[in-house]
Amino acid sequence: MRTSRFFLSTSKEAPAEAELVSHKLMLRAGLIKRLGSGLYTWMPLGLRILRKVEAVVREEMNRAGAIELLMPAVIPAELWQESGRWEVFGPQMLKIKDRHQRDFLFGPTHEEVITDLARKELKSYKQLPVNFYQVQTKFRDEIRPRFGVMRAREFLMKDAYSFHLTESSLDETYRTMHAAYSRIFERLGLKFRAVAADTGAIGGSGSHEFHVLADSGEDAIAFCPDSDYAANVEMAEGLAPNTARPAATETMRDVDTPKQTTCEDVAALLGIPLQKTVKLIAVMAADKLNVLLIRGDHNLNEVKAAKIDGLADFRFATDEEIRATFNCPPGFLGPVGLDRSTIRVIADRTVAAMADFVCGANKPKFHTAGVNWGRDLPEPDLVADIRNVVEGDPSPDGKGSLGLCRGIEVGHIFKLGTKYSEALGATVLDEQGKARTVIMGCYGIGVSRIVGAAIEQGNDERGIVFPQAIAPFELAIVPLGYGRNAQVREAADALYNQMVEAGVDVVLDDRDERPGVMFADMELIGVAHRLVVSERGLKEGQLEYQARTDAQASKIAQADAAAYVK
Ligand code: ATP
Ligand code: MG
Ligand code: MG
Ligand code: MG
Repeated sequence: MRTSRFFLSTSKEAPAEAELVSHKLMLRAGLIKRLGSGLYTWMPLGLRILRKVEAVVREEMNRAGAIELLMPAVIPAELWQESGRWEVFGPQMLKIKDRHQRDFLFGPTHEEVITDLARKELKSYKQLPVNFYQVQTKFRDEIRPRFGVMRAREFLMKDAYSFHLTESSLDETYRTMHAAYSRIFERLGLKFRAVAADTGAIGGSGSHEFHVLADSGEDAIAFCPDSDYAANVEMAEGLAPNTARPAATETMRDVDTPKQTTCEDVAALLGIPLQKTVKLIAVMAADKLNVLLIRGDHNLNEVKAAKIDGLADFRFATDEEIRATFNCPPGFLGPVGLDRSTIRVIADRTVAAMADFVCGANKPKFHTAGVNWGRDLPEPDLVADIRNVVEGDPSPDGKGSLGLCRGIEVGHIFKLGTKYSEALGATVLDEQGKARTVIMGCYGIGVSRIVGAAIEQGNDERGIVFPQAIAPFELAIVPLGYGRNAQVREAADALYNQMVEAGVDVVLDDRDERPGVMFADMELIGVAHRLVVSERGLKEGQLEYQARTDAQASKIAQADAAAYVK
């Protein structure tokens, strides 16, 4: 590629609305352009990166035995009515009508479509297990699209769905997917962590999220550096749609239940006295502990008054203050249902409001949610956990101490069980000729989110520092005086051809701009290596080499160039 025949659109300034460094840099580097809220055009440069991520994902999915297909993005409403999600998915779903006033939706996820395919195409156990995947544009009408492509409304997802006759077969594919995801994120050059995640109202026997570690991440992760212990803390408004739960904040607005929940109801639901809840939040607010150890599907009777007495002393909120914070009438916390799945919603919402009350509404990066320890982890002693997080004692499995970090959810694998196959009647005949409901798993990766997450993890004052695997170009050749100096031009062209021959993804900056401009652009967009061709260097048979991660350039022999690039 030559810059003269490409389209670069870098700029010095980032629009003020961009909060995160990755969003700023993606705009400054000209990787994306905003069309509307949560809607972005991938510019030629950005698309190169997106395609590289996609290629790694595709290669590893194929290697893991998954089979690619492509489903329609627009889905007839009937399918979602059959599964029951048409009613419960909530406002994230973009509903559309065709010219005959028939209802459709733009797919935010594709369990129904693939299960429909399965019930039509899978007849015999002999066809199982099978794992289908696609790389496709999804639409979710996020309540707050932000951070550019990281929480967009239209985004690119790789979603896979596996079908099994037995639980053990599902377990095997689940493990294969877990390993494939680890390979993917390793190959992408990202620091990541797989964490046990909530299986939510759907039940199911297991779920893991893959998080790219970054301070700006929306999710908090409790982990033990010395063991495999890791669990996620999912943010209140980001509940996974595939768990069929509406987003928490939206539930509060939309659910129209006549039952009025009192403060006492909430305390009883959480299994902790209300004052103790407030005190726990106060502890969070002290910034020692920015998670609240509440699980929606768990009775927290273990957390008793006496057991948190060792924690920092905070003033309790009065009922009056809490009511004022919740903006609700006396003894009334809002129109929420009392079934199990809403307990989390109440908890999250309660925590959010109380946390605002305790530490001020604008506390930066404050995160409120329930810790989901995951069902496949040993049952932790919650009281000990609180102490561990606060005091750094050994963790639940006895090794090391529990730490907290932040992550960006880039992947999510899930044992679905029979929720969709049962609802849609997807069965196969087993060896005895008996119809059996198929067991399912689903596996998502946020392909476009990964680009933002990688930048969140790799950047400096000069711009983006991409891992080589997804840099828009592996190598930039920057000639000084390309337009004026025949010797430089010939050497640069020869070097360029040599690199192309060697299979290097190379860009030749033949714009003949000032060196500073060319250097700044190549650094800003995150090219992994740079070779400078200059008249002075050529006289000595030398080029100037600098890796994007190097602080300084160094002189190298012309003949050695290839060795530096890979
Ligand atoms: P989040 O908690 O961030 O809202 P999610 O749990 O709702 O994500 P899943 O249903 O698990 O998302 O979808 C699979 C993957 O799709 C996620 O792990 C994430 O990487 C990606 N993804 C989800 N929502 C978005 C979005 N709005 N923009 C970009 N990527 C997204
Ligand atoms: Mg979400
Ligand atoms: Mg999530
Ligand atoms: Mg998820």
